[in-house]
Amino acid sequence: MLTKVIATLGPASGDAETIGRMIDAGVRVFRINFSHGSFDDYQRLLENVRDVSEQCNRPIAVLGDLCGPKIRVGTVINGGIELPATGAVRIQTQPVIAGEPGAITDGHITISCGYEPLVDEVEPGEPVLLDDGQIELRCESAEREADPPHLVCRVVHGGLLTSRKGINLPQTRLSAPALTDYDRQCVEFAADHDFDFLALSFVRRAADVAELKDLMRELDCRPGEDRSGRFLPVIAKIEKPQALDEIESIVDEADGIMVARGDLAVEMSYEAVPVAQKRIIRLCHDYGKPVVVATQMLQSMIESPTPTRAEVSDAANAIFDGADAVMLSGETAVGRWPVEAVMMLRRVAGRANAYLRTVAPCNEPPRHVPDSRFHSEALARGVGTIVHAMDAAMVIAWFADDGSVAYLSRNRMTRPILAFSDNERALRRLCLSHGVIPRTMGRPASTSEFISDAERYAQTHGWAEQGDPLVFVLGEPITSADAINNIVTRRLGDSSGGYDF
Ligand code: PGA
Ligand code: MN
Repeated sequence: MLTKVIATLGPASGDAETIGRMIDAGVRVFRINFSHGSFDDYQRLLENVRDVSEQCNRPIAVLGDLCGPKIRVGTVINGGIELPATGAVRIQTQPVIAGEPGAITDGHITISCGYEPLVDEVEPGEPVLLDDGQIELRCESAEREADPPHLVCRVVHGGLLTSRKGINLPQTRLSAPALTDYDRQCVEFAADHDFDFLALSFVRRAADVAELKDLMRELDCRPGEDRSGRFLPVIAKIEKPQALDEIESIVDEADGIMVARGDLAVEMSYEAVPVAQKRIIRLCHDYGKPVVVATQMLQSMIESPTPTRAEVSDAANAIFDGADAVMLSGETAVGRWPVEAVMMLRRVAGRANAYLRTVAPCNEPPRHVPDSRFHSEALARGVGTIVHAMDAAMVIAWFADDGSVAYLSRNRMTRPILAFSDNERALRRLCLSHGVIPRTMGRPASTSEFISDAERYAQTHGWAEQGDPLVFVLGEPITSADAINNIVTRRLGDSSGGYDF
């Protein structure tokens, strides 16, 4: 499948059997969400993925998702508490069990929140959104001198509030650090356990991403730019309006981007999300960074074996917009139909990509290419032109460094890129890149040996047939080159060799 599928692991899918079925159905990256569970849970999930991946002999990546500065409501009595429309609510940082008889003062329902600077930072007039925006409050006053200090809020849209629900403060300038102490523990865990990607939630500026990279360097897991060793790419989750204001510098700093539509819709507005999605994807293509579209892709499949028409259209449109990967969240973590949801996405992606192949190729050069990547970008664009001119069945590469393959992917040739390497970590990182089929192969003894082995492989797997035009991309001499520097075109099985550019 050209479009990559990420599935979030959870109680509905964390066992080895379901993981295996999801891989068969098309999942190439699993997300472990550090918001739910313990380190023992995460370790078990990781081991299950690694075991199954080894059994089926396929590179499968694991993405750890850091909570970032997520603000939450404290404890609420069992069964929750109803916040009535137009009612008054006090929010304080001093612990209180909301809904207990003692937690109603002067007719105000009192709730607590663990974010210490809350009362100092929220200004009157600003919205306070609870439980993914289901409940909307507006701050009327900030009683900073009171004992205890608290916010007085009016309920705009009421609802039932239960413990630990998220709080979104879209208009508040928050001083919260990009990484909490718990995030730091999670980063250390991910580095020690050889995760393949780290996603950072609630990024506000490029410096947040840089802070995470600095922490990784301290843990010795971003050595140099050659991406050898424990290089752990950072995916910045775009889910705050402040991040969109500085989106270009964030895309430049991060190794990949996630359009995190769940919180983004709450923090901005629902109607802002589709436009933001297109803008972010476009920018990621300019910078040659993989981009994931996430949240509610097939939401109704949490309960139902079939999705809605609107969900199917949305998933296809994310692919038309140019997403590298689409992500399932609750559908696979807690839903009743985790495997069916993946199968559905595979069918949608299959059709959408087949359609894209019939549309005139877009070979527009990206607007921004970092100097260090000019070579990869130019080469990838040339390969794209050749592929379309020859109507090639696929591109086949041998590589040592995944950076150049990432550019081939970004070029959206609408053909698979069969990418061989002996670098297991780099192969796993390519599980997020559109169109790339990563496969393990030792360094070839010669270019001709590589071509015949790769052709046999493509043919056995039904990707190409005798006589199909193919484009090979590799480094010469293949026995030692790290960078890709040669393009060979030929027809599968042609005994006269290929045409060397
Ligand atoms: P989450 O992030 O599922 O970790 O909240 C994705 C989103 O907000 O869309
Ligand atoms: Mn989120």
